[in-house]
Formats: sequence, structure tokens, C-alpha cells
Amino acid sequence: MRFNNKPGLLLLGAALAFAGLPTQAQETQAAFQSCLTNLQPAAQRVGVQSETYQRFTQGVQADFSLLEKLNYQPEFKLPIWDYLSGLVDEERVSDGLAGLQRHAEVLKRIEAKFDIDPATVVAVWGVESNYGRITGKYPLVQALGTLSCFGRRQSYFQGEFYAALRILQRGDIAPERLNGSWAGAFGHTQFMPQTYERLAVDFDGDGRRDLVDNSDDALASTANFLHKGGWRNGVPWGVEVRLPAGFNSSLAGRKNKRSLDDWARSGLQLVDGRPLSDSGLSGEKVGLLMLAGVNGPVFLTSKNFDVIYGYNAAESYGLAIAHLSDRLRGGGSFKTAWPTDDPGISRAERRELQTLLVAKGHDIGEIDGALGEKSRAAIKIEQERLGQQVNGRGGLKILQALRAGM
Ligand code: CA
Repeated sequence: MRFNNKPGLLLLGAALAFAGLPTQAQETQAAFQSCLTNLQPAAQRVGVQSETYQRFTQGVQADFSLLEKLNYQPEFKLPIWDYLSGLVDEERVSDGLAGLQRHAEVLKRIEAKFDIDPATVVAVWGVESNYGRITGKYPLVQALGTLSCFGRRQSYFQGEFYAALRILQRGDIAPERLNGSWAGAFGHTQFMPQTYERLAVDFDGDGRRDLVDNSDDALASTANFLHKGGWRNGVPWGVEVRLPAGFNSSLAGRKNKRSLDDWARSGLQLVDGRPLSDSGLSGEKVGLLMLAGVNGPVFLTSKNFDVIYGYNAAESYGLAIAHLSDRLRGGGSFKTAWPTDDPGISRAERRELQTLLVAKGHDIGEIDGALGEKSRAAIKIEQERLGQQVNGRGGLKILQALRAGM
């Protein structure tokens, strides 16, 4: 689950236009302490006992670096093919296949209880936390406390802050283990605390819903999330299709659902030329997911795609999870290429790019395949030197140029 910056940015823009600067408490530790004191009665009203509140907030310092993340505006929007090439690469497919095998027994019991197929559960796990490897390092009470007291989404984060304190109060997760993303998503499933309270399950039966250190609980909780979202097992999430020449693209849109027959009458076929009736989606209402125009890969998507979308509220992430699930079932890559002459690169290639940047004398921090701020700054310098478009994006062009020793 990733924090969606968009609505807040609009609010911030409105506030700036209206009043110069949004009214804001001064960002000091003293202001933080008095804010925590002020929030306690509200926390108590939603079930956080006073002893709990004291115990877990005592001595906590605000982390003001989170406010920069909250207000971060990317200088340019990453194209969809960059998300997909990093989130669904050969490594993630082979790690997922290993996970399917290692957890086969529990995944079978999870499917029996929640009616979600193993590949879908494991694909969510792979995209959310790289199969439990990347779950976030920010202490939740500190992060959510800070965001409850400063910045532009305080009331939203207060709800999550109180939920995090209730989780500690119940003892489901040890305080030193309750770490997550800067915005408060934690554990193998990257649930927000309130989502945890609603949907986490104790599947190994030890009496605790532990999404941090117990993969059985985490996989079952993911399945419960999808089950409660309305997943129907056995219905494909969607299928890649081929558009007819001169297709009216105003029909596109995940929510603009029509019957499969309607789409067939509009001239759509499966991407390999077979009729839509071979898709396994007969009788379903499906929308057309078109994330890179009529020349990129396009998909007819069922309600099950919308259920996956609910995990992150981003179509790019939804498509990554959906596509990874297909790959884990033995499916191949998309048949249609993304419409670009500078395709995205895998995490292995990103690490190679970072290694080449280091060899050129750049400090890019840790070689982790993540292409953060330092990597992007180094890429810009190299793009400038090579006469390429200077945008800091790590794609195939810059990788090939550096590989060739240019
Ligand atoms: Ca448990």
C-alpha cells in the first residue's frame, strides 16, 4: 500500500493560492511534544488507554525529514514501462516461483479458506515487499506521530497513529518490530494500521496477527484483503488484447465496463488474433486498461483487476501485480511492446547501471537497483556528457552507452 500524494497536492496548491502558506505549527521538538499531549484525549476516545499512550509516545522525537517526503513532487513522472520493468523482472518471477513452492502447503489452505489462488497472493507479496525482504525501516509510532502533528494530511495520519498504538496495546506486534514505510505501511503485506485492524488474520493460530515476522499470517491477510474486496476465484483479472485500426479510444478506461460481446463488436480481439470469447471472461463486464496509448499494450480487465487495484490505488501497481501473477502461472511477457525507443530496465540492469556509474567516479550510495536521488543525479551528468535527453531516468539508452564504454 503506497501513500497517494495526489489529493493532498491539490489541497496544498489551494492553500498556497488562498493564504500564501498553510497554517503550520513550528517544526520543533517542543511543538511535537505539546501536540502529542493535545492528541491524547482523542486517542483515548478511540480506545488507546492512557498508559499505552504514555508508554509508547514517551521520549519519541519527531522525524522532520518525513515532511520532505510528504511534499515531494517528482520532477517528471516515471513512464509506466519503468514501473513494470522493475516490479516484474526475471528475479521477481523466479523468487515468486520459489515462494509458491516453499509455501505451497499454507497457500493451499489459504485458498481453501479465502478462495484466492496462490499465484495472486504471492504476486501481491512480491510487489508489496519483495516477498517480505523490503518492509520499511521507519518506526511507526514516530513516523505516524510526526505526520499527525505536522504537514498537510494530519487528520488522516492521526487515525493511523491511533491504530498503530492500539496494535501495540493488544501486543500483536512488538514495539521494536513495528517499522514500515515513511507513511506507515508495514510488514510483508504493507498494510496501513487501520487496514491491519480490519483485515489482518492470525493464520498460524498462535493468537497474534503478526504481519511482520510471520509469513503465514501475512499471506492469509493478503488473501483476506482480496476476498473482502470481492475477488472471484477462477475469473481472469484480464487479458491483453488487440485493437482494431481507427479504434475510438474514448471507450478506454478501467471503470468504463462493457460486455465482452460489446467489445468484440467494436472489433477487439485477443492479442494473438483469437476471438475474445477464448479469454475466459465470457459473461463478465470488462473495462479497457490503456496505460500508454493505443500503440502500447492494452488489456480488457475484470472486476478482479479492480480488487487488486484496491491494494494500492494505482493502475501501474495493479498491472504489475496482475502481470506477475500471470508470470507465476507460466505466462509470458506482454506481446505488445511499450511505445518507446528507450525501454525500462530490470533491477539487475539497474544494479549494472549503478556499477557503471561508480566506475565513472560518481557517488551513488549503495548499489541496490533502486535508482534513488544520487543515482538520478549521476545519470543526469552522464546524459549531459553523452548528449542524451537530460532527465535522470535510468533506461536502456544510458545503460547501453555506458556499457559500450562511451
Ligand atoms: Ca499468528
